[in-house]
Amino acid sequence: MSKPLSDHDRRKQISVRGLAGIENVAELKQNFNRHLHFTLVKDRNVATRRDYYFALAHTVRDHLIGRWIRTQQHYYEKDPKRVYYISLEFYMGRTLQNTMVNLALENACDEAMYQLGLDMEELEDMEEDAGLGNGGLGRLAACFLDSMASLGLAAYGYGIRYEFGIFNQKIVNGWQVEEADDWLRYGNPWEKARPEYMRPVHFYGRTEHHPDGVKWVDTQVVLALPYDTPVPGYRNNVVNTMRLWSAKAPCEFNLKDFNVGGYIQAVLDRNLAENISRVLYPNDNFFEGKELRLKQEYFVVSATLQDIIRRFKVSKFGSREIARTDFSKLPDKVAIQLNDTHPAMAIPELMRVLVDEEKLSWEKAWDICVRTCAYTNHTVLPEALERWPVDLFAHLLPRHLEIVFEINRRHLENVAAKFPGDNDRLRRMSLIEEGGQKRINMAHLCIVGSHAVNGVAQIHSDILKATVYVPEITTNLPVILYAGESQLTPEIQSTYAAPGYHTAKMIIRLITAIGEVVNNDPVVGDRLKVIFLENYRVTLAEKGIPAADLSEQISTAGTEASGTGNMKFMLNGALTIGTMDGANVEMAEEAGEDNLFIFGMRVDDVDELDKRGYHAEEYYNRLPELKQAIDQIAGGFFSPKQPDLFKEIVNMLMHHDRFKVFADYEDYIKCQEKVNALYKNPKEWTKKVIFNIAGCGKFSSDRTIAQYAREIWGMEPTLEKLPAPDDKP
Ligand SMILES: *Cc1c(COP(=O)(O)O)cnc(C)c1O
Repeated sequence: MSKPLSDHDRRKQISVRGLAGIENVAELKQNFNRHLHFTLVKDRNVATRRDYYFALAHTVRDHLIGRWIRTQQHYYEKDPKRVYYISLEFYMGRTLQNTMVNLALENACDEAMYQLGLDMEELEDMEEDAGLGNGGLGRLAACFLDSMASLGLAAYGYGIRYEFGIFNQKIVNGWQVEEADDWLRYGNPWEKARPEYMRPVHFYGRTEHHPDGVKWVDTQVVLALPYDTPVPGYRNNVVNTMRLWSAKAPCEFNLKDFNVGGYIQAVLDRNLAENISRVLYPNDNFFEGKELRLKQEYFVVSATLQDIIRRFKVSKFGSREIARTDFSKLPDKVAIQLNDTHPAMAIPELMRVLVDEEKLSWEKAWDICVRTCAYTNHTVLPEALERWPVDLFAHLLPRHLEIVFEINRRHLENVAAKFPGDNDRLRRMSLIEEGGQKRINMAHLCIVGSHAVNGVAQIHSDILKATVYVPEITTNLPVILYAGESQLTPEIQSTYAAPGYHTAKMIIRLITAIGEVVNNDPVVGDRLKVIFLENYRVTLAEKGIPAADLSEQISTAGTEASGTGNMKFMLNGALTIGTMDGANVEMAEEAGEDNLFIFGMRVDDVDELDKRGYHAEEYYNRLPELKQAIDQIAGGFFSPKQPDLFKEIVNMLMHHDRFKVFADYEDYIKCQEKVNALYKNPKEWTKKVIFNIAGCGKFSSDRTIAQYAREIWGMEPTLEKLPAPDDKP
């Protein structure tokens, strides 16, 4: 297992040894060996590198347990306001190194492994990414959990424990091929199953209206089995919980009511119910109206709200000290943050629980619901907006459809009272879209059911205010911080495509085709390589982003809500060439516009161009270089064996390019010439890098969460530490 250490590694080890407490190291070695023996049931003759990783993971995990239990005890006793961050995605990546860093164990573990003849970085590389997200939205949720723990907030992340996360991307003959992400195959040392807290989630059935209220009956039940993952704060002894639900068929599933083919068939059909948590939908910024996805969304919402209300009921303000639960205190003790509209069903579900089960009046329940819930919008692209067909809703969640209709009836009554006779406004603001197939607009549902709505960057919030009906918008900035060493060369390109997302896959194929030509051109030689980074994921971002010199953030103004990669590159010493879009705008504000390479249309220019009419061929005919590039792509220069391969991409660019990229082309090329000129002057380049790094503080997710806490949740973040526990297992 051990590999000979280079001089560099040795120096690193020696410097590390001075920092690691000797007792700590001895104890870590002992516990590592104990776990190898008792947990992995291996000795050093037969142990694999993966066994050593698991032994180290369990050793480190032991140091979380005391802090975890004591943090939760502390919350139970102090009963602070709880924040519930509900998200269909938590893109966590790896856990081992983050845990060691936050618990200040990294040096001691490194030394302990070294003394055992093992290389810690090699062991770290055995950990699977927890890839339970598509991109920015899921990574944001992961960063927010980290920051909420670091700021001492009594916070919980709630989501789905997908058995298969985002697919592994293989490039085969230049094409993307997807492979299932079987991340749990060897077990997950960071999670703890809690079957004792299993909760029923209901689907289908029908409603009965009685004088004493509405009953939802004849439902099919799926159980939600929680798995808890510890979320340590940065060196403050706080350990919060991420609770992910897994679908489990009840024992009587299909045996009593829906018996189709007898006992064996009923047991086999349990898979159908358990498919709910089988796989993450690999759609980034795209709405695919599949029934299974709606089931996932309601599944996480229903199980989570049961947990929230149980915890509230046993709290001081619930019934622990009061005979009957006083739900009017719910908004003082609970904040629910909806990560995009994916968990929007929390709004009608909370209404259903309060009205149908807890027998509150509609008015009282609605006031509680609105003051408890807040919504973060992540995009204005129409293809990403969730618009569920009413028919599907009626079938899967009949009671919730009635509730949504009632929310809408009252909402439109208010609008009509404010704007008498304005029927067009009523149509625009309705939660229900008429005309053709009736659909529920989930963003509208979130806006009327929340007390705060925020976009993810200033410009995005401004666009939301100008284009969508938003009563009150607070603004926020997301961010992700990565630290690491440069391990890759800078000429790196990456992009992303969900399976079935045809255009994106064709773009990947075009990039690999250009690589085949450029990388084998004898004149170009080794001076330029076009490389498509296969299987981009959190682990690869941690390595690749610090290696980059130039960050290209070139979305057409008004189309990228924020971006988060832009900020990661800024922090890690790359300069940005970008449009005035998303968080680029604030990056320019913070670092100084002269320290970024800004080009292209502003939002107003794009609007003007839309009015004038965008015609790609004008740019194509006017700019010979652009024409040549497009002609080469269309004519098979990059695909000599299949000259027509990229005709559809060219056709898209020339005739239906919603993003109007040719309109920014000329300015982009001019701007790249400025980049080239500055790159030849390392001193001036480095100056700008320093202004960027010095200016990126605003983009800390700690800063963002402190702002959410104060402006949305009515909570005060703290840098106080909990007392350190006795770690001895
Ligand atoms: C940050 C991040 C993203 C999102 O990047 P954007 O630039 O915001 O699109 C996607 N995937 C991974 C692995 C990331 O770390």
